[in-house]
Amino acid sequence: MTSETVVPIGEDYPELRESVRKICARFPGTYWAGLEEKEAYPTEFINELTTSGFLGALIPEEYGGSGLPLRAAAVILEEINASGCVASQGHAQMYIMGTLMRHGSEEQKRKYLPGIAAGTIRLQAFGVTEPTTGSDTTQLKTRAVRDGDEYIVNGQKVWTSRAMHSDMMLLLARTTPADQVKKRSDGLSVFLIDLKEKNTGKGLEIRPIKAMINHNTTEVFFDNFRIPISSRIGEEGKGFRYILDGMNAERILVASECVGDGRWFIRKATQYAKDRVVFGAPIGKNQAVQFPIARAWAELEAADMICRRAAALFDDGKECGADANIAKMLASEATWKAADTCMQTYGGFAYAKEYEIERKWREVRLYQIAPISTNLVLAYVGQHVLGMPRSY
Ligand SMILES: Cc1cc2nc3c(=O)[nH]c(=O)nc-3n(C[C@H](O)[C@H](O)[C@H](O)COP(=O)(O)OP(=O)(O)OC[C@H]3O[C@@H](n4cnc5c(N)ncnc54)[C@H](O)[C@@H]3O)c2cc1C
Repeated sequence: MTSETVVPIGEDYPELRESVRKICARFPGTYWAGLEEKEAYPTEFINELTTSGFLGALIPEEYGGSGLPLRAAAVILEEINASGCVASQGHAQMYIMGTLMRHGSEEQKRKYLPGIAAGTIRLQAFGVTEPTTGSDTTQLKTRAVRDGDEYIVNGQKVWTSRAMHSDMMLLLARTTPADQVKKRSDGLSVFLIDLKEKNTGKGLEIRPIKAMINHNTTEVFFDNFRIPISSRIGEEGKGFRYILDGMNAERILVASECVGDGRWFIRKATQYAKDRVVFGAPIGKNQAVQFPIARAWAELEAADMICRRAAALFDDGKECGADANIAKMLASEATWKAADTCMQTYGGFAYAKEYEIERKWREVRLYQIAPISTNLVLAYVGQHVLGMPRSY
């Protein structure tokens, strides 16, 4: 039996997969390479996904979305990457609204969710990471201080992706000073900020960061920036919990994106190993070329199984922290193995931009670092799953 004849167990949501593939087929590698050259945002691709309803997958029907389970959203993102496209902007539009959906007031949900589902409101920026505190999120320094009907925000975010291309941003800021709270995670609040005042001199400035991949990422500066109280989501001081609430979903979605990228790499590597003839035979005849691809495939399949289990637990309303975290870790490592194996299989041609290997290779390295680094996942497993002592 060849790899083409093996039907992956449970090719779930086949119609969804087929529709996503059809859209992606209209956005070939040259489209993504062109965007990267200009450091541009994939407007046409995102418009197409939104008008087809894919990015409103997780928004309940009563707010204009399609109310699909997380597993369906994961399948959409997986297929985008498996087709050679880039899911990150779609992921953001699909997922960042989760905090608003779970913790926003009815008025906020009615105001924003239908627009997000329809794509008329882009909520694709998520401001958590700061330059001086990094993974130690609860120590972040951006302050939001109450002043009558407003909050005054001061501070800086870094790596806030898509802020230049987003209408709104979800912001995590400290509302009670760290030395006045019982627990480090208390005193942080979440705000839904309107970004239209960016770079107008009203205290909100956004500067692009030149980065290794085209992630439209930025630094965001707040200098006495005023936001209305109505922009706060949920209760003051509970923001960290609200963000944590959405972490499992995000881990599962990212893991599925990794699986998609991995599938793309393995397909490319397998085909090239069959086609490329050196020393009078296809290079894939050499076990030194064939076995790494086989191993990478095996590891990706294993990661996919954990992704599916994590999504199944999540959709069933069961505890899924361990599975969501290890799915993200294993899938990010499996996709990196697939990427590196594909690069080695292509040899020198991997460096030629037209084959897209080097672009995707750069893109998938990120998953071991963001949105959470592997060490932090291991710390979660060590401490929360296995009950070992905390190191920090
Ligand atoms: C392209 C890109 C896009 C991003 N987009 C966003 C975004 O949209 N919004 C946002 O808020 N953030 C975003 N991020 C930030 C991302 O979430 C962080 O980079 C990530 O969480 C790691 O934080 P850090 O870079 O500050 O690393 P640090 O926290 O400085 O860690 C550096 C290294 O030290 C390790 N380390 C740190 N502490 C420990 C410990 N106690 N034990 C063991 N190891 C440890 C980490 O694992 C890591 O390998 C993005 C980052 C990138 C690169």
